[in-house]
Amino acid sequence: MEIVRRIPRMKEIVRDWHRQGRTVGFVPTMGYLHEGHLSLVRESKRMADHTVVSIFVNPLQFGPHEDYDRYPRDLDRDVEILSREGVDVLFYPSAEDMYPPGYRTYVEVEGLSQKWEGASRPGHFRGVATVVCKLFNIVQPDYAFFGQKDAQQFVIIRRMVEDLNMNVEVIQLPIVRESDGLAMSSRNVYLSPEERAIAPRLYQALQLGQRLVQEEGERDAAKVVEAVRSFLAQEPRIRVDYVALVDPQDLEPVETIRGRALLAAAIYLGSTRLIDNVILNVK
Ligand code: AMP
Repeated sequence: MEIVRRIPRMKEIVRDWHRQGRTVGFVPTMGYLHEGHLSLVRESKRMADHTVVSIFVNPLQFGPHEDYDRYPRDLDRDVEILSREGVDVLFYPSAEDMYPPGYRTYVEVEGLSQKWEGASRPGHFRGVATVVCKLFNIVQPDYAFFGQKDAQQFVIIRRMVEDLNMNVEVIQLPIVRESDGLAMSSRNVYLSPEERAIAPRLYQALQLGQRLVQEEGERDAAKVVEAVRSFLAQEPRIRVDYVALVDPQDLEPVETIRGRALLAAAIYLGSTRLIDNVILNVK
């Protein structure tokens, strides 16, 4: 596996692959890799001739009081994992190369970026859309892989790709979970042992909502949201940020559940913010 730090070298490698008629799969990450990331890497390896993984903790998508400085990092371990997976290139640019002095250009996906996660994290999706746009321009992938864990992020990136006529097919893959149901996340290391024991309640609450809809026939979104909220409220150490039942295309709240809907939630456990979601499927 080649580790590439410089943007021109990354472009050169991909130019050669494309000249030879090979396809390129791309998995953008912030590192501190887990099985969720690796599910994306494996699908890329399956679909494309070459796979590029990026590790870049993007300062632009963190708020001033968020965890940019303490975000977990372990490059040596990540390199070992990605080599073992047979990844062709790890792209590991510096913040200085990505945002040199004089940098002025940002990508804003209006509307979709301001709700839910965006309401709690102003500027977050502007940072995400900007960095993903830059990474797509550098890596020129034929396919790019994202997790359903960040469902709103995927909706925004899909919109950006369509609106800006980008030549990439974006693919979303299911959430990978720990054996107790907690969605895997690099941020789970922030949890104390007590918080870690409580954390699976987030998924349990979403599953409760899913059962209400899919097994008990509830169609009133407000009732499902209320049931999820009151389940979470039983644990005093959980502070609910939002519970949302929305249309998976435009993220607008749903009143009556029909077809597919996204049930998503964000909570605080101590100072750690956790997100998770499930797809509701009504025949
Ligand atoms: P991150 O490193 O957190 O920026 O995540 C990089 C990519 O991995 C994003 O597309 C995430 O949605 C995806 N991802 C993170 N956690 C999971 C998970 N538990 N299951 C599947 N994909 C995930």
